[in-house]
Amino acid sequence: MKTELLMPAGSLEKLKYAFYYGADAVYVGVPLFSLRARENEMSFEDLREGIAFARAHGKQIYVTANIFARNLKLKSFKENFKQWVDLKPDAFIMSDPGLMSLAKEIDPNVNIHLSVQANCMNWQSVKFWQQQGVSRVILSRELRLEEIREIRQRVPDIELEAFVHGSICIAYSGRCLLSHYMSYRDANQGVCDNSCRYGYNIYQSSSDKDQEFFLEDLRNKGEFYQIDEDENGTYIMNAKDLCVIEHLQELRDAGICSFKVEGRTKSLYYAAMVAKIYRQAINDMEAGRKFDTNLLKELSKIPNRGYHKGFVTGALSQDSQEYRHSTSRNFTQRFAGLVLEKIGSLWKVEARHRMRPGDDIELISPQGSIKTKIQNIYNEHHESLPQAGGGGLSFYMDLPADIPSYSLISLIEQGGF
Ligand code: SF4
Repeated sequence: MKTELLMPAGSLEKLKYAFYYGADAVYVGVPLFSLRARENEMSFEDLREGIAFARAHGKQIYVTANIFARNLKLKSFKENFKQWVDLKPDAFIMSDPGLMSLAKEIDPNVNIHLSVQANCMNWQSVKFWQQQGVSRVILSRELRLEEIREIRQRVPDIELEAFVHGSICIAYSGRCLLSHYMSYRDANQGVCDNSCRYGYNIYQSSSDKDQEFFLEDLRNKGEFYQIDEDENGTYIMNAKDLCVIEHLQELRDAGICSFKVEGRTKSLYYAAMVAKIYRQAINDMEAGRKFDTNLLKELSKIPNRGYHKGFVTGALSQDSQEYRHSTSRNFTQRFAGLVLEKIGSLWKVEARHRMRPGDDIELISPQGSIKTKIQNIYNEHHESLPQAGGGGLSFYMDLPADIPSYSLISLIEQGGF
């Protein structure tokens, strides 16, 4: 079976770029029933267009409906599910057994993939879900290679999917109550506030005898939680990003048929770049070529919290954690815009970040990339400008003559950002 590269698509635009840059399949969320509920830009009409686009390009599309629903949501799930089924996505990604049984009642042939949110960690569970009619299990991110291998041996006739790239939680998949506890936003209802990644002050009680520590959430000063911690009192739960691109061959040999990338809320640049880089790694693997270590450098062009290998190669270490800050600051290039079309001798670009004449840029396309310098920037009246502001506004530039369709502009800064 061919290995699948499965990319996130938080919007119709990201869906198209993920496909242009090499994804075999994408997963999209349905509002109200998918995690990432707050940032979901995919309307029903977008979903319809996205499915048509995937069909036209011979690609797969999976619809995520993976919340753990309360009673209140069952009625609207019943009312809405039929219209999603009628769009004929390739599968639904689900975790709530109640919603799954409702889905099967509505359409007994519906294809269901078990979401990572269901936290499936052993072969007996995989077997159980197979008996419930699930065609694919997205394995927990906490599994090691040898555990995946054993699952495949014990349950040979089910599709297994694994996350290979993107943000991960400090909690077991699907079992985090932190955000709900700290800000009443339940991660299992799709409204996680990323509590694990923010800054905290740690205070020690004045009594030397008891050595009690208290945590103060910097977003809610004056609110204290008692904790047991040592001197690493900042970003104590902020996991680095997962990246197991060097281990795809081992994962495939262990039985994984779909390599999944996290990040429906991440940018179009992330969707395109990660798809392109993993596409090359998968193509190399399938052609029997050695892993190209330059791909790790390519991944450093994308915002990240620092990379680590999760549990795939063994237990986590101190190095799996980013203690200094919560945001994705480790990157050497920045997404600056989209190349739209050539008009006369100039290229129309949509600026997503400020660019100035003299800036070093890389023009990245699905086929390759070119490094160059911005010469001049113009407005629509061909008047020269000192800069192109971001915000999605259009500008004109004299870029190299041949730029492939769907190229992205990536700003290079000496020494990174
Ligand atoms: S608070 Fe952190 S660990 Fe918990 S679900 Fe959100 S991202 Fe994951």
